[in-house]
Amino acid sequence: MNLADNHLLDTVINSSPIGICIVNADNFIVEKVNDKFGQLHGNPNDLIAGKSFDDLFPKKNVLDKKIISDVVKNKETLYADEINLILKINDRIKETKCSPVYVPIFDNSDIVVKVAIWMIENAPSKNEAESQTKEDAIIEKERKRTNALLNEIPTGIAILSGKDFIFESANPMYQSLVPSRTLMGKPFLDALPELRGSELEKALKTVFEDGVSLSFNDDLVPFSDLESGEPEERYFSYRLIPRFDAEGSVDGIFIFTSEVTHVLNNKLGLDRTSNNLNQIINMLPASVVIIRYDELIVEMINDSNLAYWKKTRDEVVGRPFLEILPDLADQPFAGQLRRVMQTGEIIDIKESPVLFTEPDGTIRETFVDYTYQPLTGLDGKRDGVLVMSFEITDRVQARRQLEEYANQLSIAYDQLSILNNKLSKSEARFKFLIEKAPVAIGVLRGKEFIIESANNKILEVWGKPETIIGLTLAEALPEIKDQPFLGYLDDVFTTGKPFHANEIMAMLMHEDELKEIFFNVVYQPIADVNGNIADILVVAVDVTEQVNSRKMVEKSEAYFKMLADLVPAKISNALPTGEVTFLNKKWLEFAGMNFEDMRNFGYQQMMHPDEIAKFQTGLAAAAKSGIPHISEMRFKNSEGKYIWHLNIASPILDENGVISMWVGSTTDIQWLKEEEQRKNDFIGMVSHELKTPLTSVNTYLQLLLRKAEKTDDNFLKQAYIQSLKQVKHMTDMINGFLDVSRLESAKIRIEKSEFEVSDLFKEIMLDYELQYSTHKIILDSSSSLRINADRLKIIQVLNNLVGNAVKYSENGSTVQISYEQIDKNIRVIVRDNGMGIKPENIKRLFERYYRVEQDSKIAGFGIGLYLSAEIIFAHGGKIWAESEIGKGSVFYFELKLTL
Ligand code: ADP
Repeated sequence: MNLADNHLLDTVINSSPIGICIVNADNFIVEKVNDKFGQLHGNPNDLIAGKSFDDLFPKKNVLDKKIISDVVKNKETLYADEINLILKINDRIKETKCSPVYVPIFDNSDIVVKVAIWMIENAPSKNEAESQTKEDAIIEKERKRTNALLNEIPTGIAILSGKDFIFESANPMYQSLVPSRTLMGKPFLDALPELRGSELEKALKTVFEDGVSLSFNDDLVPFSDLESGEPEERYFSYRLIPRFDAEGSVDGIFIFTSEVTHVLNNKLGLDRTSNNLNQIINMLPASVVIIRYDELIVEMINDSNLAYWKKTRDEVVGRPFLEILPDLADQPFAGQLRRVMQTGEIIDIKESPVLFTEPDGTIRETFVDYTYQPLTGLDGKRDGVLVMSFEITDRVQARRQLEEYANQLSIAYDQLSILNNKLSKSEARFKFLIEKAPVAIGVLRGKEFIIESANNKILEVWGKPETIIGLTLAEALPEIKDQPFLGYLDDVFTTGKPFHANEIMAMLMHEDELKEIFFNVVYQPIADVNGNIADILVVAVDVTEQVNSRKMVEKSEAYFKMLADLVPAKISNALPTGEVTFLNKKWLEFAGMNFEDMRNFGYQQMMHPDEIAKFQTGLAAAAKSGIPHISEMRFKNSEGKYIWHLNIASPILDENGVISMWVGSTTDIQWLKEEEQRKNDFIGMVSHELKTPLTSVNTYLQLLLRKAEKTDDNFLKQAYIQSLKQVKHMTDMINGFLDVSRLESAKIRIEKSEFEVSDLFKEIMLDYELQYSTHKIILDSSSSLRINADRLKIIQVLNNLVGNAVKYSENGSTVQISYEQIDKNIRVIVRDNGMGIKPENIKRLFERYYRVEQDSKIAGFGIGLYLSAEIIFAHGGKIWAESEIGKGSVFYFELKLTL
């Protein structure tokens, strides 16, 4: 920047906050004055410029011509005594004090050609005894300017003055960290009493007493809620920097701070829940909501989206979108949602503003990147939209603030350069502030990008010492040679357009180690008067930590996917609606499709038609009870072949007990099934082979019994009767096995006929009395009821229930049989007073080969109840049991009556 340039000088002088007047040393004609000077003089400046000094200042007690002559002669700056001025500003009279400084301006041959007069306004002092020195006045002025600048910086900044740490100023960002607290003019510990005795208080004292700067990262600051007094867990990174007065002693403290609670919580939360898929999804930085039907009903929403809308789940789920957020009615979202449902297109929009009206009537401006994807319902029709959005308000605002800040700085920088020599002390303070600012700031000169200034933060980010100032950027940071930054700077330099980027990555050398650093950055060109770019101001905020913690979330999602791919089962994930959101590699390989194809094709399409209905009722029950639905079912593979699987569909509940998603694990059990088939074939074959000899044994025994009956040999008779019982028992068992093996290959065959139930019971009761002489078998009912059923198979069921009742109860106890009409059904009840069954075993009784584990060795194979259930189901009836351990069991079945 060419400071000698007249035009530039004009600009700088005019925008300077200090009154400036330049007088020709030869003829005392006033050549230049700025607005501020005009104000101090009390006349509009056009009245002043071009006039002679005598005309303007007739009274010597204001400005003195003689002093100008002295300065011309002595070639030295002169600080004149303070003067009183009466000003008229907006028709109000104001009294002020000024300290004029007379500064010689030399030509090339070192002759004073002009004298510049700086009118430095002093703050009025209440008490003459406290009257400030000229230096103090400058400092005071500078403080004001500093405060104005502080308001623009996107970090909480406060200045505490004196040993009581009185809040002298706090920028809006700082105030927003402790809303509803009065800070200004109050001692730190009165404004924030809960911090008495805290580390922060100790640190303030140390900084004040020792004059050192202190930095703290991720520190717990024990704030508490103003109303309830409840402690809050809030973490901050902050820096405390001493402020020195003219004598060099500490007279105050700068606090730079930013809250990191959110970032830390992200990290902690991540550690706690990396295994919990549900929470991972809730932790995803994306907001997710599902909206259905023309009325735009919110069906499902994740925590992140609730937080963004500032609503609770109850206020939202099941209600129309525009009723929840009526202020979005005149924004484009509802229209877009309906369009997606109608046309099936996918909408993907970046940096869209979304305006919410807060309860207090203020407008909350947010920005989001969002996508709308169409969803189809169970009937295959498009009826919903999956909305995924990322709130980027902070990013957009940070960028805007950064741009503004850069702009402010570039103006301040212009002013600073011109005031350079004259106000060295004051400038040092300003520079000090820039140096210690937590935002990285640097100035690059010329097209070689010579580092003209670099504050502490930028040196920290670059990982370089102060000695790089004066080098070119390429010399100072040789590692960026193949990175795009020099190119960006070149563009800014040639086009004059500022460059800004968010979360841009640089590899920078920090003590022999190449480090990955992310930052938001603005390159602001600074032009000279001719409009040529002379410098580039670099303002950057290090966002490495935020980026890394977000990446960790992304990584853990990838980690989940990787794990899911390593598991030997097929894993799927679905929304509570059934919409599939994830299928692992095993699933995709099995189906021979990619994710989108398989999702669109539909998980249900792969199921065996015979199993879909049962699966759906099972799922509905699981959704109600929260208990996983386990079933054996067939899925079609890529060759169109159905393969048996063990399918477990687990509803995952959130903390309110509401299903947040389904996780499915599906394991190939085809080989097991085949094995079982072979076993059944074997049993079937063996049983068949055994039946033939048993039939002849039975016939021979009958003959022998008849012969023995004709003799008096009672022992022989009893022995044949017992043998016949055992043969019958064996035949029943073998028939059972045969039935099972037949069941495997085909459905059970039912041959129905209509018959009277009371007749059937009369007939079997005779048998039971003979067969079970050890127990009292009682029939309690006699009403006549007719059913249409397979008579033999129903007898088989009763035999089994009564047989079990006898088998699992003490000799001498009673087995009670009864039946009754319930609506249009007959209910048959078999009750015993035996050992009973534990509740957890009851639901498994009807499974094949299931036997309750028990101490007493009671023979059996666990197929009786299985066959009974299959028979009752084949009749369209139902069967169940109730029992109390130690007291006895009751078995029920129901069949339709013929009415
Ligand atoms: P099993 O041949 O083992 O009796 P079932 O299929 O008839 O086979 O019965 C399955 C299991 O149910 C039995 O092993 C037994 O543990 C239990 N069970 C059946 N009926 C009763 C009953 N009346 N009292 C107690 N336990 C019973």
